[in-house]
Amino acid sequence: APPALAVIGRPNVGKSTLVNRITRSKEAVVEDVPGVTRDRVSYDAEWNGKDFTLVDTGGWEQDARGMHKRVAEQAEMAVDEADAVVFVVDGLVGATAVDEAVVRMLRRKKKPVLLVANKIDAPSQMSEVYSLWNLGLGEPYPVSALHGTGTGDLLDAAVKAL
Ligand code: GDP
Ligand code: MG
Repeated sequence: APPALAVIGRPNVGKSTLVNRITRSKEAVVEDVPGVTRDRVSYDAEWNGKDFTLVDTGGWEQDARGMHKRVAEQAEMAVDEADAVVFVVDGLVGATAVDEAVVRMLRRKKKPVLLVANKIDAPSQMSEVYSLWNLGLGEPYPVSALHGTGTGDLLDAAVKAL
């Protein structure tokens, strides 16, 4: 099977927009384990001649009480099955407490992580991006999933990590 790249992060940071941008009009590969994989959708993807499976996560209902836990659990399952991880944060907001909880989980997993600062639609919106170095995950990749800017650099690095 091709290596798997999991896309994780809080709801509404733009994970699905990024996955759709990368996979274009590709059909989702339907998972064959009902229930367990309900919140994950896989796509066949290719970059620089390398085939990989891109896994979108999310799809659960937000609830104020359980959100920390559920985001982390969902992310953790996807990470366990992945060869590398794209961790998406809202680049306009910067890191939140939920993001920091995800970072702690990622540290335990010791898998390659690419940190994406999404929603950077214009160079003038970079101010929060620099502070993301503090998460200790290395260089943040500024991306606009909406416009497609920055996704090439991200994918170059991601397929090298697979
Ligand atoms: P997910 O919950 O992480 O999968 O987030 P979605 O992909 O569903 O996106 C959540 C919202 O953010 C939608 O309204 C998107 O249109 C918006 N969004 C996603 N990427 C970008 C981006 O690069 N720039 C801007 N301005 N909005 C974005
Ligand atoms: Mg989504």
